[in-house]
Amino acid sequence: MADFISKDIALLSGVGPDKAELLKNELHISTYEDLLRHYPFRYENRTYLSTVAELYAADNNSPFVSSGVQLQGCIVHLKKVEKGKKRLVAIFKDETGQIELIWFQNFSWIVKNIKPHIRYSVWSKLNLSPNGQRQLIHPEIKIFVNGQQELYSYIPVYSTTEKLRKSYLDSKGIVGLQRKLLNNLHVYETLPSYLLTKYKLFTLEKALRDIHFPTNATALRHAQRRLKFEELFYIQLKLLKLRQVRIEKQSSKSFEDLSLFNTFYEKHLPFSLTNSQKSVIREIHHDLISGKQMNRLLQGDVGSGKTIVAFLAMLMVISQGAQVAIMAPTEILAKQHFSRFYSFAQLLNLNIALLTGSTKKKEREHTLYKLKTGILHIIVGTHALISEGVSFKELGFFVIDEQHRFGVAQRAGLLSKNQNYVPHILIMTATPIPRTLAMTFYGDLDVSTISELPAGRRPIKTQHYYENSRLKLFQFLREQMSLGRQIYVVYPLIEESAVLDYNNLMAGYESISRAFPDVQIGIVHGKMDSFSRDMEMRRFEKNETTILVATTVIEVGINIPNATVMVIESAERFGLSQLHQLRGRVGRGSEQSYCILMTDYKLNKIGKARIETMVKTTNGFEISELDLKLRGPGDLMGLQQSGILNLKIANLSTDINILEAARESARKIIQEDPDFQSVDNLPIYKEYTRLVNKAGVWSMIG
Ligand code: ADP
Ligand code: MG
Repeated sequence: MADFISKDIALLSGVGPDKAELLKNELHISTYEDLLRHYPFRYENRTYLSTVAELYAADNNSPFVSSGVQLQGCIVHLKKVEKGKKRLVAIFKDETGQIELIWFQNFSWIVKNIKPHIRYSVWSKLNLSPNGQRQLIHPEIKIFVNGQQELYSYIPVYSTTEKLRKSYLDSKGIVGLQRKLLNNLHVYETLPSYLLTKYKLFTLEKALRDIHFPTNATALRHAQRRLKFEELFYIQLKLLKLRQVRIEKQSSKSFEDLSLFNTFYEKHLPFSLTNSQKSVIREIHHDLISGKQMNRLLQGDVGSGKTIVAFLAMLMVISQGAQVAIMAPTEILAKQHFSRFYSFAQLLNLNIALLTGSTKKKEREHTLYKLKTGILHIIVGTHALISEGVSFKELGFFVIDEQHRFGVAQRAGLLSKNQNYVPHILIMTATPIPRTLAMTFYGDLDVSTISELPAGRRPIKTQHYYENSRLKLFQFLREQMSLGRQIYVVYPLIEESAVLDYNNLMAGYESISRAFPDVQIGIVHGKMDSFSRDMEMRRFEKNETTILVATTVIEVGINIPNATVMVIESAERFGLSQLHQLRGRVGRGSEQSYCILMTDYKLNKIGKARIETMVKTTNGFEISELDLKLRGPGDLMGLQQSGILNLKIANLSTDINILEAARESARKIIQEDPDFQSVDNLPIYKEYTRLVNKAGVWSMIG
């Protein structure tokens, strides 16, 4: 029976080699299964038979206008109209009244085939003409027969392509093929029966029938739920299996010596930790002494204090003679980490170095030497850290800061940096990832969350100003500067219009310079070389400049507590998560901070929703969930191409409940029967093995 679904699509009657080739090229359909899993993207609801009278009562908001209407009756008159646009008009009559059917093409076919006094069923969207007339344009028309298939049912609509349409594989053509397949359907159940019972799921067979030809709305919902569950379940199973393999097999060195940690904690910690920070440190410690490799994601909103947690964890590893590394996404951020860690390292007599793309050759060689011979305890850097020539004496712990695209495959690359045992890994992110995405993209990791900000932080006040309030803005900035505060002004920089954006930035810089002739103003943007960019950042950090005009290069991680005002120009052009990240650059000290969103008057719906959200909430997780809704998961985090989000039916922005159920079930199974050996889990054993051999969906996750 497994053979049925893996049969070549060319073997289906009505397909043949040419169409098979087309289906393969155009829609990646090469087997029966591929066709069965080519689900409709919408349905025409023909369950309802309406009347002409009803159509006259309908307005433009009626579903008849948007999704279509079905009538039964006779044609009482047929005429060609030559005036204006040439058309064929039929008067169609049912028991409640009459309405026009209109065709602009194929007149002869209609004229030849339509007969008076025969009962027809027609289907079309309803057209409301400006003078209040109701019309059906190019309706589908069929002689009514008792019990006909389309009546009282949902008609599936399939995506297809121009080439396929030319070969009669338009949506209706595909409907025909699906019917044939379903007439001979032989499929194995892929989920164990206890899960079907627990979650009241349709069997695979019933779900496949109802997803293509739903018997009613409830059946359709059930079919969708079952197929979504199945899809998410197998992804989760794979991810959790990866994690389990790692935990079981991936032993690592255990780090128990807390001497450095204790010294720093008792003598040098600059502030007391939040409870959240403490509990995360306990989780990390627990991993480090477990003898198994730590692979942990640390999420915490901007400013929640992840860096100090990473540093404290590093100390636990250094005490026992191993080296540690922390990698940041940008040079600026790497330098900032370096300078912060450098002062700590001095206190503890530890050796530390910085390695980035712009490290000079000689210095680089020296650093690499010290790394290899074990003189260095800590290395801070950018991607340069994972390049070929970098080797360690004993890399024990690797921290990855703010790089949410560092997926399973990249992480695997790190493991070879230590020949004797796999280093522990901590990934830190402030990009609050919606739970659904985290569960998929980081599904193989253990997750820790810092859920509170350090005490004494005041929530940032966010305000929306329209362009015409610029004078008010300047007034406000002047007040803040007189209190001694510093200000960021950020301009969007979007690739497609880079030149224009650059001009905007310069114009903005000049207008601010004119408005505040007595104030020191700096500028940073991506076109500057990293040396000058750095110098500008330093000047701002040291409070030598009061206003910093910038593009989003200052986006991640920068920490300048005295900068309390963030002005975001053309705020409507930023994504929500990015706005939130930018806002997180302020609010880092004890003074009241502000974020001001400047926009044009004309805001589209999404732009408006973003601005409103920003003004309303500072909760990163709430914002990320909304962002996902507004943008769709593909766009978020630039994961469009990642494949992981290439789901056939489930939707990561709306199917959170199903995802959670699927993950929980998968978790339990991996825990209790990791190799799917029990009789109950036989369906999983079969399907999992089949999917592993088939790769496909899973290729991206390992
Ligand atoms: P993020 O989580 O965004 O990386 P950082 O680690 O850069 O945040 O911390 C932001 C600021 O908060 C830094 O100046 C840091 O020294 C400070 N900080 C971190 N933890 C605490 C704490 N428990 N109490 C007070 N300040 C803290
Ligand atoms: Mg940070």
